[in-house]
Amino acid sequence: MIYDFGIIGGGIIGLSTAWALGKRYPGSSILLVEKENRWGFHQTGHNSGVIHSGIYYKPGSLKAQLARQGNLLLVDFCREQHIPFEICGKLIVASSAADMAGLEILLQRAHANGIQAEKLSSPQAKEIEPHLVCEGALRVFSTGIVDFKKVCERLAEGVGKSGGDLRLNTRTLSIRTANDGHRLETTSGDFSCRFLVNCAGLHSDRVARWQGLAKDIQIIPFRGEYYELRPEKRRLVNHLIYPIPQPELPFLGVHFTRMMDGSVHAGPNAVLSFKREGYRKWDFSLVDALESLRFKGFWKLAKTFAKVGVEELWRSLSKEAFVRDLQKMVPEVRSSDLVPAEAGVRAQCVNAQGELVDDFYIEEGFRALHICNAPSPAATASLAIANHVAGKIAL
Ligand SMILES: Cc1cc2nc3c(=O)[nH]c(=O)nc-3n(C[C@H](O)[C@H](O)[C@H](O)COP(=O)(O)OP(=O)(O)OC[C@H]3O[C@@H](n4cnc5c(N)ncnc54)[C@H](O)[C@@H]3O)c2cc1C
Repeated sequence: MIYDFGIIGGGIIGLSTAWALGKRYPGSSILLVEKENRWGFHQTGHNSGVIHSGIYYKPGSLKAQLARQGNLLLVDFCREQHIPFEICGKLIVASSAADMAGLEILLQRAHANGIQAEKLSSPQAKEIEPHLVCEGALRVFSTGIVDFKKVCERLAEGVGKSGGDLRLNTRTLSIRTANDGHRLETTSGDFSCRFLVNCAGLHSDRVARWQGLAKDIQIIPFRGEYYELRPEKRRLVNHLIYPIPQPELPFLGVHFTRMMDGSVHAGPNAVLSFKREGYRKWDFSLVDALESLRFKGFWKLAKTFAKVGVEELWRSLSKEAFVRDLQKMVPEVRSSDLVPAEAGVRAQCVNAQGELVDDFYIEEGFRALHICNAPSPAATASLAIANHVAGKIAL
């Protein structure tokens, strides 16, 4: 059998893509292969569970458009599918007088991106988060929380019910491309498809290179480590409390997030990892490390962000340093209130100039699309990214 569509990767992007292709091309045959034994095992299953609003991103960028659309689509999907979620809003806080200028810039960005936000004085912010100490804050209304693993399960169920062929425990090993499509060699046998979509997350550059693409980019993994508030201290945080992000970085700074199960996570930081799926502090892969070190963009990146990189490493090694950053927002938090929680690893695309690719990035190949940069807020934006991808494909 030759499938119309073959999708590599069963994270939220691959599953949303299968969903969107099924809707756009009813009756088409869809194959999705995932190397792990459950859906959303990697980035999707290790994230903060935040439905982002789309406030931060450069107006006109794919991230700005698709995050906003994705937020609405995801909320509709959760409603239809009875997946619990909560649009609780979030506070972005200015911890110093100097931060107030950053707040103003973010407010302008909110307006440019069509996101509803309002500036709050410190007492107004305290009414929402009584343990917060700040100079002022921005309240973003459309931010929420959800368990993205549940979203994945429901997408997989839906695609399966409409006839999609979804295969877990199936690792793609190589792709052979001919005039009429592709042959995927996998650990469960060979499969043929007319059109391929690469949604392999932390391995998306490797998959794209099988088709001779992604020559000037590389996925560099950044681990995001979390702590969790002890249950008796969850009362310190009602919803979501974020600092003002550093404008030159795509990461948002360590923040407080209430999860759907009621726990409160603090983090994630962003530490360079030498293993693409390395969830523990000292995880190391010689293959992954050499691949990073051989990429010229890596050295340029390391030079530009040497200071930030060392600070992140220090904050990873020193719980006290991590806690000090949290105390800028909630001074009552003590080191003893926090216990380590599971980390996640971000697939961050870096270009040959050593720049952290900010926007979502898709490479086009022969009868193929390769999603080579889908970092945060791609879980939020997943259904919009999937529609965008499906719109680029003509069978
Ligand atoms: C710490 C952290 C916090 C985040 N917080 C948020 C947040 O709060 N909100 C938000 O919107 N976004 C957040 N993100 C970003 C979001 O999680 C990701 O953008 C999103 O999950 C990317 O989905 P994906 O499907 O591209 O990747 P993944 O979920 O990593 O899925 C890729 C899949 O491809 C599979 N695969 C790879 N190679 C192969 C192969 N050869 N054969 C078969 N299968 C293969 C992998 O096993 C994996 O399951 C966060 C990310 C991290 C790491």
